[in-house]
Amino acid sequence: MTTAAQVLAQFQAAGVETCFHDRHITPQIYAGLNGSNWSIKDYVARGGYQALRTILGKDGGEGLTQDQVIATVKESGLRGRGGAGFPTGLKWSFMPRQFPGQKYLVCNSDEGEPGTCKDRDILMYNPHIVIEGMIIAAYAMGISVGYNYIHGEIFQVYERFEAALEEARAAGYLGDGILGSSFSFQLHAHHGFGAYICGEETALLESLEGKKGQPRFKPPFPASFGLYGKPTTINNTETFAAVPWIIRNGGAAYLACGKPNNGGTKIFSVSGDVERPGNYEVPMGTPFSKLLELAGGVRTGRQLKAVIPGGSSSPVLPASIIMECTMDYDSIAKAGSMLGSGAVIVMDDSRCMVESLKRLSYFYMHESCGQCTPCREGTGWLWRLVDRIHRGEGRPADMDVLDSVASNIMGRTICALGDAAAMPVRAMIKHFRPEFEALIRNKTPQAAPSA
Ligand code: SF4
Repeated sequence: MTTAAQVLAQFQAAGVETCFHDRHITPQIYAGLNGSNWSIKDYVARGGYQALRTILGKDGGEGLTQDQVIATVKESGLRGRGGAGFPTGLKWSFMPRQFPGQKYLVCNSDEGEPGTCKDRDILMYNPHIVIEGMIIAAYAMGISVGYNYIHGEIFQVYERFEAALEEARAAGYLGDGILGSSFSFQLHAHHGFGAYICGEETALLESLEGKKGQPRFKPPFPASFGLYGKPTTINNTETFAAVPWIIRNGGAAYLACGKPNNGGTKIFSVSGDVERPGNYEVPMGTPFSKLLELAGGVRTGRQLKAVIPGGSSSPVLPASIIMECTMDYDSIAKAGSMLGSGAVIVMDDSRCMVESLKRLSYFYMHESCGQCTPCREGTGWLWRLVDRIHRGEGRPADMDVLDSVASNIMGRTICALGDAAAMPVRAMIKHFRPEFEALIRNKTPQAAPSA
């Protein structure tokens, strides 16, 4: 088995700056996370706010234009780290910079996807990297006001981010006339209220406006009708955190960390049946097997059965498929799932897939906001059917009904939660149907052999 030290040696041989973190984060881009050195003094000492100085021409250079910043981000191949994987530079270019009224920048730190815990750690241990990334984004898009919407259950993180904001304001990195330039940017933290659906970008905007957090119809998209009806760009925490490194080192260097169309590194939250669950930052395109090794491998004495590679919304992949994958958007999509938010949920051969699906289905039923009928009613149907099978009261026709209900949800809802509820069901049926059928036949919950 490749040790963590060997993996790091390979990274260093490839010219990638890296070090291990005691919480199992391997920071290359998020360097410096150790719990006590989050303050602005430490951040500046390790090169923090240098990228901001560069674009504003405060490091002796000429500075960068808005177009140059966006071009650099496009060149980097950075894709949204919140789940959708949309190219960040392209998204920034959608902002109508000449719009005469207020424009907004929003950071989506409403990290609620089951299995995901990376944004929380970035904000807790390296908050200034997000602040600097947001300031650079605001400069590139000509935005003067921003908000960071932070998940409701992590108040400690909210307080840490507020403290970092105060430091940045006092140092002249935020506010009017940043570092003596003509560029001004006001950034505020906003505490969410704990609803999973508020991580959906338009529900987040509704919540930020003080309304019930329910998704909006799209179009119009936030770039034209966002917060308070004004042009708005929303990116994930990890996405903003990548920006300072990209500006300091160049788009090409970031792209080279990963693989074509999948630039840079990604933090994976590895949980479930592994020896060392935690957050691991690895280059895009790292083999899944290597990530699993970093996390200590499957629990002692057990075999890998399946992996949910991108948070609970992504379809499950059996061991035989995931072990052939590399961890990047294209490879996981080709295998029939999604990289999503990077929450890697590992399941060993003791896991009952019916029980796992029952738990997932309950989550989506509980979190449906209730606006659209296929999601509101369908998620309940899915849970009741899986629960019935799990209790040993399933009927042979239930498998087809499950598939039918899931099919009738997909593509028929306002937001992606409907699809997120249906996709795990269809994947479980596709890869582990015999396990469900055995339970229906034998009336006893049991774990089936690995697929
Ligand atoms: Fe609400 Fe579900 Fe419709 Fe999304 S899909 S808007 S969560 S009811």
